[in-house]
Amino acid sequence: TGHVSNPVVLYWHRTDLRLHDSPALHAALALKPLVFIPVWTWDPHYVYKARVGPNRWKFLLECQSQLSDAYENLNSKQKLWVKDTDAYAQDRDTAVIAMAEKAGVQVIIRMGRTLFDPDELIQKNNGKPTMSITQVEKAAVKINNGNPDKPIDPPSSIPDPWDEERMDLSSLEHDSIDNQPDLNAEHRTQKDEQYSNIMGPKNDFAVPWDDIGIDLSQAATPHRGGEAEALRVLGECIKNEEYIAQFEKPQTSPAAFEPQSTTLLSPHLHFGSLSVRKFWWDVHAVMENQRKAKKPVASVPTNLSGQLLFRDMYFCAQASLGHRFARTHGNEIVRFIDWHLQSSPPDKNGSVDGSYEVDSQEAEEWFQRWKEGRTGFPWIDALMRQLRQEGWIHHLGRHSVACFLTRGGCYVSWERGAEVFEELLIDHETACNIGNWQWLSCTAFYAMFYRCYSPISFGKKWDPEGNLIRRYCPELAKFDKKHIYEPWKAPIADQKKWGCRVTGDGTSSSRSGDTDNTYPKPMFNFDERRRICLDAMKHAFSFSLHGDDAKVKDGSWKKE
Ligand code: FAD
Repeated sequence: TGHVSNPVVLYWHRTDLRLHDSPALHAALALKPLVFIPVWTWDPHYVYKARVGPNRWKFLLECQSQLSDAYENLNSKQKLWVKDTDAYAQDRDTAVIAMAEKAGVQVIIRMGRTLFDPDELIQKNNGKPTMSITQVEKAAVKINNGNPDKPIDPPSSIPDPWDEERMDLSSLEHDSIDNQPDLNAEHRTQKDEQYSNIMGPKNDFAVPWDDIGIDLSQAATPHRGGEAEALRVLGECIKNEEYIAQFEKPQTSPAAFEPQSTTLLSPHLHFGSLSVRKFWWDVHAVMENQRKAKKPVASVPTNLSGQLLFRDMYFCAQASLGHRFARTHGNEIVRFIDWHLQSSPPDKNGSVDGSYEVDSQEAEEWFQRWKEGRTGFPWIDALMRQLRQEGWIHHLGRHSVACFLTRGGCYVSWERGAEVFEELLIDHETACNIGNWQWLSCTAFYAMFYRCYSPISFGKKWDPEGNLIRRYCPELAKFDKKHIYEPWKAPIADQKKWGCRVTGDGTSSSRSGDTDNTYPKPMFNFDERRRICLDAMKHAFSFSLHGDDAKVKDGSWKKE
């Protein structure tokens, strides 16, 4: 409170569900608080607006639970206090800072989410969004010779909170803006008990179960959240020095599972259960060791440090463009393409409502089949089902399904695909999701639209036996390797022998009266669609229209 010695500090956890390397926590504790209260609030944007599936909710609750335990380990009176409130609107931070200042509360903000401060990167990139790794590298060199700040040690002690009675959650809820009694309290307690394996028996996170509308028992992800887990996984990776030093992203297999071929640390970076700077410096130390030992070491951008720079590149581009970054309309860096499914243009006041114009009913159906993993192309379906079940797929798997939905098959807008990823990914990060969808659809960051992923030969190259398909499309498990990527080519007698007929569109009605296992027929001829998409992309590129060119003219898109 105020500029006083030994203040009361309210520490607001948002994107940093950890105690290690947290610059803001470090700054808070440096104030030598008399009372320290760490809080998490249910941000209405996350609860009501964001698309969040059960797997990501579960991951978040695990992160909270481990953070609360970490506090209690340092100070038995401490835990993470969770406040359930709808006091925050979209411009949350500005509003909160204004409120705090009015109340005489000093707000201290520290950057700890990316390697470099995105605003500083923009400044060093001549005020422009970073659109390539080279630009990020050049800008970073001007900041600190290309090195992020060193990680800060976790605190060894935490001051006490207020006494039990004052810290009682119910009194916190009573203080909430609308000042309403909590009518759902009993129901919530039942849910908390039901999910106590995730929540931890002693923790009350005041989860707004009804508002978030999820059934956590649907969360099937094997990937666990929490700071201790993140540090364990990072430690395991770092121990394998050769793996770290020689890591080259294009050489890692999208078909590998149990274990996967990359680190799978992205969800921890998203929730901040792992510090990205710690990740970077731990990798750096291994690289230095290996260099000294004259062992081979991979370089940027394909190595692990390069992967982390990609993350900074997208954060910087997003910071530079604000809300415009995530859409086509009004976005000067995104190429306008007249997709079969196109987001609706802004109204006369320039507002975008997120709806879609459908040029082709067929494409709408392809979109649904893609989303549900029933395209009839086993490589695509296996990946989309893995994504739905587990919330994570390998980067090149994301490439395959994103290219297929957009410029390499369905010709559906990247914005629709990004929405599905937003719901299903446990590592969903707006900057990275949007930026990568723009990359894959060749609307920004990347332009080689003639390089297209085949849903047959690309998967086959990595996984000739089709193990990923056998795992996530179990109805095809008995197909031989010759037909596993193109099951529709298998003779009917073999389909019967292997216990699965290739027929229909994968909906239950298309299987009515059929007791056999079935797998859908391919939803189109891929070679034909690839040709059509390529021609359309050539056409789009010949105009070089961008999201800010494509303004509404008499209620319609400006098309040359
Ligand atoms: P590793 O290969 O082990 O890389 C280490 C870390 O580097 C990752 O954890 C991640 O933080 C970062 N990183 C690696 N590749 C990228 C990249 N291309 N862009 C940005 N950061 C990267 N990543 C997200 O974190 N959130 C998203 O919502 C997301 N959406 C994506 C959507 C599409 C269409 C595509 C093609 C990629 C998307 N990515 C996203 C990027 C990338 O696929 C994941 O970061 C990566 O697969 C995570 O697995 P990992 O932790 O094993 O990565």
